[in-house]
Amino acid sequence: MKLALAFAALVAAPMTSIAAPGQVGNIIYMERCKNGCTLKKGVDDSRTLTSSIVSGSGTDFPMAEFMSSTGQTGAAADAEWNALVTCVKEVYSPYNVVITDQKPTTGSYQAVVVAGLDEDIGVSGAAGIANVHCQPLDNGVSFVFANGVGGSAASRLEFLCGAVAQETAHNYGLSHEYKFTDGRSACTDPMTYRSDCGGQQFFRNEQAYCGGFVQENCNCGGTIQNSHVALLGVFGPGTPITAPPTVTYTGPAAGSEVATGTAVIAIAKAQRGIFRMELWLNGYKWNEVKGVAWGRMGQPEASYSIPIPAGVPDGVIDIVVKAKDDIDVTTATAPVTVMKGAPCATADSCLAGQKCEAGKCFWEPPSGNFGDACTYPQFCTNGFCEGTAEVKICTQECVVGVADACPDESYECIQSSSQKGVCFPKGLGEEGNCLGCSSASTGAPPVLLAAFGLAFVLRRRRR
Ligand SMILES: [Zn+2]
Repeated sequence: MKLALAFAALVAAPMTSIAAPGQVGNIIYMERCKNGCTLKKGVDDSRTLTSSIVSGSGTDFPMAEFMSSTGQTGAAADAEWNALVTCVKEVYSPYNVVITDQKPTTGSYQAVVVAGLDEDIGVSGAAGIANVHCQPLDNGVSFVFANGVGGSAASRLEFLCGAVAQETAHNYGLSHEYKFTDGRSACTDPMTYRSDCGGQQFFRNEQAYCGGFVQENCNCGGTIQNSHVALLGVFGPGTPITAPPTVTYTGPAAGSEVATGTAVIAIAKAQRGIFRMELWLNGYKWNEVKGVAWGRMGQPEASYSIPIPAGVPDGVIDIVVKAKDDIDVTTATAPVTVMKGAPCATADSCLAGQKCEAGKCFWEPPSGNFGDACTYPQFCTNGFCEGTAEVKICTQECVVGVADACPDESYECIQSSSQKGVCFPKGLGEEGNCLGCSSASTGAPPVLLAAFGLAFVLRRRRR
């Protein structure tokens, strides 16, 4: 039988500051309960398998060894157990966390018991359980009641891996996630209760609303959680061991003619899923599309179509497609050279700041940092060149009206013509404390907006 997804016991731990890396042990020990183990009730201590969750009369609570999908233990269950350990290692690999099934002999570690049944420790109706510790707890104990989870070896692996990730992460203050802030189900993240999609779950680098079966406040304050960023905050970075994206370019063919709207096609997939596909033309990112939705078997391999947007200058174009997962692991296709209109002869037919060489219009890689003077956005490392007719600087977005919104006190956050707050030197903004507020803004995407803005400026100057 397959029980409902992991429930957390919410122990009222006071909200305190988030731990910094190194303030809690970084070892997670997966306890298989070889030949059976004994849980005790009391203050959490992984070293003695003592847990505040254990309830019932008596002092010793025996639990049976992890069983395979066919009910076997010992060597006959090794393959499924080892696959589970590998899966959990992959899920935690972006963080400085050690996953092991060898019991540590020194230091602090969390024990996650992956064995037995919920009723063994006086719990009912749970596939897993853990306390949410807003201040990450040393020597914590969490549970995944593996022997109550049915299904094939593959479906059980997927479920148990997500359950181990969820229960162990509760110990470090993570809440359940209901949906991402763009409305998609959080079913791709192990912190969810939702099961409207399948596939290996990972702590996602995305803002999500907290909640189990409905949207709720997060356990440790606020309404939004980014599980990936939260774990980075607790442990610091590790080295992802998940496979990078695979991407195969399928067209347009080398040497062909392209135009505005020509679809660049590439087939891609990734172990963590494709988060977005980017279209780079002569070294500059001109367009992007999001990864396709997850289904019952996870995110399928898919063919992505990324149109060449308006505003790309004519000339020889090297096309590169970059496939990225949600933690920015990137695979790029080899450049494919095509032709749009006639090759450029001089930079006059290119966009502001571009050079023309070998028939290609291109920008040098961005080199302008915050505060540097600029004349076009592609000069700035973050693509933000804002200012008045007299002075433009590489700057960054900020929230108007918030103190310390900018990295330097000689800057203030003021409204720009694109309706965004940007940091600008104090006193240099225009009347009404804004930048070019008389210009109309459009709803076009940032890249296009920047291109239109440049065209507008150029036309005006030529008059
Ligand atoms: Zn939970």
